[in-house]
Amino acid sequence: MAIRTVDTVPLRRDLDEQFANAQKWISAREYCLVRIETADGAVGWGECWGPIAGTREVIDERVAPLLRGRDAAAVESIHADLVFDLRSAYHSTVPAGVVSGVDLALWDLRGKAAGAPVARLLGGKRRASVPAYATGHFWPPAEEFTAVKESVVSEARSHVDAGFDALKLKIGLERHFGWGPEYDLELVRAVREAVGDDVAVMADANHAYDLPAARRVADGLADVDAAFFEEPLPPDRIDAYTRLNRGSSVPIAGGECWAFAPEFRRATNAGAVDVLQPDVTSAGGLTSARRAAEIGDAAGIATYPHVFGSAVALAASLQLLATLPGSPRLEFDRTPNPIREDLAADPIRNEGTEVPVPDGPGLGIEIDRETLDRFRVDR
Ligand code: CA
Repeated sequence: MAIRTVDTVPLRRDLDEQFANAQKWISAREYCLVRIETADGAVGWGECWGPIAGTREVIDERVAPLLRGRDAAAVESIHADLVFDLRSAYHSTVPAGVVSGVDLALWDLRGKAAGAPVARLLGGKRRASVPAYATGHFWPPAEEFTAVKESVVSEARSHVDAGFDALKLKIGLERHFGWGPEYDLELVRAVREAVGDDVAVMADANHAYDLPAARRVADGLADVDAAFFEEPLPPDRIDAYTRLNRGSSVPIAGGECWAFAPEFRRATNAGAVDVLQPDVTSAGGLTSARRAAEIGDAAGIATYPHVFGSAVALAASLQLLATLPGSPRLEFDRTPNPIREDLAADPIRNEGTEVPVPDGPGLGIEIDRETLDRFRVDR
């Protein structure tokens, strides 16, 4: 299974209307996929988190020449060698999305070579489908708070109508709109009122707060029985996470911006979060996300992987979720997006509250060539 080619496949789709979270306005969805082909003609697909720019160049110009000729089955040693090489090249920043995209493609190849879904190679499925929570609830451009509130509440209702019993809101309105934490809590209360007490409600601040504001919001979220409070603080403020988590009755969640086992270990040992959220496209692939989940499990905390990618990321996340202990939930992005829906020849959809784990070999999906060609931006 010698690696013959490593290629990047950049995809982009401009949105009809931009939307925001606490960090940014989003006007396009873009993905840098990785395609690895072996000498015997097998193909594995991976996906890198974040903008195409930078990631594509690192893979094409630095990583591809390093990997040509290596045994694709050596997934973990390639992972270690890539981290070593990129650390020595870039010092303070290992481009974790790059390592992730390559790692996912290699896991896909490993599963295809074995004729088995990756979940089986990760130790075996504990579940054939995963309970999902609906994520989305981004904010539209608006002048008035009531317009944002109506949009979010109506979206929340639509998810419940579609069969979901759990959903996650965005909070942290202040940066874009100037509306402070009291508005965030009003938004959460409005959703709780609209969906009732039987629906699990989570809130994601995308790093919006400092510690005092985060404490206030945590108290307010406890009042509406929120299931967790995600990324209240910037991800590098581990000490502040620990102080918040210690005093909060709502579980604190985070980790989508953390990468590689040592960082998850540091955060876990510090008691920073009660829910770990590695993203398979940015944590260092399935290799690192699985290690993060093991570190969390050893400390008695849950792992709910972060997912906001294409069908490749979704399939890989489901393979991991199938194997995790406890009662993990899938973060199921519900923003309209054909690169998530149509890129898998057999689209991944919820059946009521659950999403089935793809059962094909490797990551479990076939890439739809037509969708791939439709959104490619390099030709
Ligand atoms: Ca998030």
